Amino acid sequence: MRRNRNVKIVATLGPASSSYAVIRALYEAGADVFRLNMSHGSHDEIAARHAIVRRIEADVGRPIAILADLQGPKLRVGLFAAGAAELAEGARFRFDLDPAPGDGTRVELPHPEIFAALEPGATVLVNDGKMRFRVEACTSSSADCTVLTGGTISNRKGVNVPDVVLPLAALSEKDLADLEFACSLGVDWLALSFVQRGADVIEARDLARGRAAILSKIEKPAAVKAYAEILALSDGIMVARGDLGVELPVESVPPIQKRLVRGARAAAKPVIVATQMLESMIESPMPTRAEVSDVATAIYEGADAVMLSAESAAGQYPVEAVTTMHKVALSVESDPTYRDIIEASRSAKRQTVADGIVAAAREIAETTEIKAICCFSQSGTTVSLVARERPRVPIVAMTPLVATARRLCLTWGTTCVVVPPVDRFKGAVLASAQQAKALGFATESDQILVTAGVPFNVQGTTNILRVAPCDERLIYSAEPT
Ligand code: PGA
Ligand code: MN
Repeated sequence: MRRNRNVKIVATLGPASSSYAVIRALYEAGADVFRLNMSHGSHDEIAARHAIVRRIEADVGRPIAILADLQGPKLRVGLFAAGAAELAEGARFRFDLDPAPGDGTRVELPHPEIFAALEPGATVLVNDGKMRFRVEACTSSSADCTVLTGGTISNRKGVNVPDVVLPLAALSEKDLADLEFACSLGVDWLALSFVQRGADVIEARDLARGRAAILSKIEKPAAVKAYAEILALSDGIMVARGDLGVELPVESVPPIQKRLVRGARAAAKPVIVATQMLESMIESPMPTRAEVSDVATAIYEGADAVMLSAESAAGQYPVEAVTTMHKVALSVESDPTYRDIIEASRSAKRQTVADGIVAAAREIAETTEIKAICCFSQSGTTVSLVARERPRVPIVAMTPLVATARRLCLTWGTTCVVVPPVDRFKGAVLASAQQAKALGFATESDQILVTAGVPFNVQGTTNILRVAPCDERLIYSAEPT
């Protein structure tokens, strides 16, 4: 089953989506990439979901990407005796290092670095900033606070301390174990939370040893500042608006989103817009108009992917949420204004032969009746360059490497197929024509574009652009070997 849209859909798996039936329904509804959130769920649960996705991949015969999201140095409170506590505005509340279950007066915050860095007057935020505390007094093991915005604080809620810079390692002990676990299962993408500097990306890449591509989540003010460096060292980017909107003023998130999406596209690296896209669908079968508009905005901006978090992981309507994203994508992508915006935001950057070939491919596809751009690729680099051009016609990525096909599931406009290696150009053209027809992009009488590199099966050798017929008899008779 192929998709008739450009933007990709990432669906987070969780308790609401852990059976074969539900995950299969998410796939059928349009999910292209499944996200395993290492912050939640045991290794056994994660391994089970991973196995189900791979089973579905085999059953449907199409590559599917799995993204493992490492928790990173995310700060969290400990546990409460009753699971939660109600805190009223103006009340006193203490965070400390005592692992005893919390109550309405205190809870564990198992991060000594915070207490070393906090000062009276600093703000502590809990649960994506929904609850606010002001630090009144602080020791090396506790902070006494006044509740500024009350509410329910519950087990393991996230904590942000935007006013202080914490000397935290990019990868915690848990992350190191999770990274190794995810790589041993076989995931396609590793997402790094709370990246602060390029060195954090290098550290993770060294540990992944090529087993997964590295996606940096931009959710810290420091990462926004160091974006150019982080982007250059990463294979992909996530605009992680949940924590970004807590760490920075929430109104600064839309301009940052625009800048990050544009930067990633110019660098030919996939970018995901994430968090609260259809938040109300956790509990309602209908999204709000504003949420639909938010998904649409990300698609108009040219993002590679939009993401569901709790909507698909823990909500009541996971399949409906994917269906909503799919329908919004179809609506936006058939709007003539969409093409105008995509064209206007293209960044000219033609330095290499491959750059020139992909730009030419797009122009030929625009001015003639070409039905698809078919790309032979080892590493996926050429495919990413074609996708950066955001062409009008579908991109068919053909590769003998299943890992490459899976990673490219995150890339805009791309349909991936695993094919046997080819060693002759005629073979590449034939395979392209066959795939374009089998996928329903072209018929016998249509023409396609084929990009490839000679010699074959060597990375980084894109040097051929061919306008080819889909009629195999013509290919046999006309094509040079
Ligand atoms: P999270 O990351 O869901 O792991 O927190 C995404 C975000 O912060 O937006
Ligand atoms: Mn986050």
